[in-house]
Amino acid sequence: MEKIESKLRNIKNKELYRDFNYIQSSQSNTVFINNKKVLLLGSNNYLDLSDNIILKKHCKKIIDSYGLGAGGSRLTTGTYDLNKDLEDSLSQLKKTESALVFSTGYMANVGVISSLCDRNWVIFSDKLNHASIVDGCILSGAKLVRYNHLDMDDLIKKIHTHKGKNNLIVTDGVFSMDGHIAPLDEIALIGAKHNIITMVDDAHGFGVLGKKGSGVVSHFNLEDKIDIQVGTLSKAIPSIGGYVCSKKHIIDYIKNSARSFIYSTGLPPAHIATSLGAIEYMKTLDSTRKHLLEMSLWLKKKLIELGYEVTNTQTPIIPIIIGDARKCHQLSNALLEDGIYVNSIRPPTVPKKTSRLRVSLMASHTYEQLNFFINRLNYHYKNII
Ligand SMILES: *Cc1c(COP(=O)(O)O)cnc(C)c1O
Repeated sequence: MEKIESKLRNIKNKELYRDFNYIQSSQSNTVFINNKKVLLLGSNNYLDLSDNIILKKHCKKIIDSYGLGAGGSRLTTGTYDLNKDLEDSLSQLKKTESALVFSTGYMANVGVISSLCDRNWVIFSDKLNHASIVDGCILSGAKLVRYNHLDMDDLIKKIHTHKGKNNLIVTDGVFSMDGHIAPLDEIALIGAKHNIITMVDDAHGFGVLGKKGSGVVSHFNLEDKIDIQVGTLSKAIPSIGGYVCSKKHIIDYIKNSARSFIYSTGLPPAHIATSLGAIEYMKTLDSTRKHLLEMSLWLKKKLIELGYEVTNTQTPIIPIIIGDARKCHQLSNALLEDGIYVNSIRPPTVPKKTSRLRVSLMASHTYEQLNFFINRLNYHYKNII
């Protein structure tokens, strides 16, 4: 116990302690926190569908007919006809043979990687891949080889040095804390050339990029070239769940071996139906997506002109690098006082000395709101940094 207390003190001393901000309302581009309306600039609710009136009505109707909890794991009593509709919809949209829905994206990554790979595998993973990918790699027992972020020369070099009998290259499609898009076209070529299975986690591309919002693989026209696509139903799609899309035999194998799939309860039917409804609706939002990306690039350009260090993002994730964790946290708190909620992202989520304000936009944000943010940021940045 003494040891844990001292560890906790250590986290607090380094200004790395994290706590909750309690939201008291539905989530759109503004929310209520501490009984005050604030501008929300950090949510993954990119299409602002979480408070969508049609989807909410649909969800309530499903609760009336299907009830609340699933009451069992997918392979026992936790699978509804709605699951099949959702999996069919996903495989159709992603142009794969088959799909499987997990209870979260985290569980999908952990389950897919740990069931496919074992200690006879080598996994090549981008250094900034999401924690759920890293955890899946560790759980699998495979040899984990991390290549420098987005660095294809390093990937090729490491393949030549470490390639084994069974190999996997895995990457975030859009990097959640940087907004970078992975060079999937090059990764697909490298995978094909070296006979390595390729896997992409599209948590932040789904709904935002590609034809009809189908994601980053479609953005690159690589539907038949990436072997495994994982993603979430909890970001642009305002529900919960994770998915994997791939060839039928791969999905059938995962279904029968991924422990995070087998030993956890299936999703509540209303959330499966919400995902299904939101995917249908999301497909129609091409002009919304175009607007969202234009606005994101506008904000990025504006911030760079003002002298801020912004990552080379091409997505609605626009991180402003502050560096020092304490100052970053102070800045985020000062903005919240002013009515702007933007998260300070600190280690261990990002590398040391790269703490950042992770701004992310929703399609419904206005330029007026963004100008207000820039104005307050300028004011506090001068005082704090
Ligand atoms: C959010 C996220 C996940 C996890 O998805 P959940 O459905 O929230 O568990 C996985 N990968 C990436 C890149 C993410 O950003």
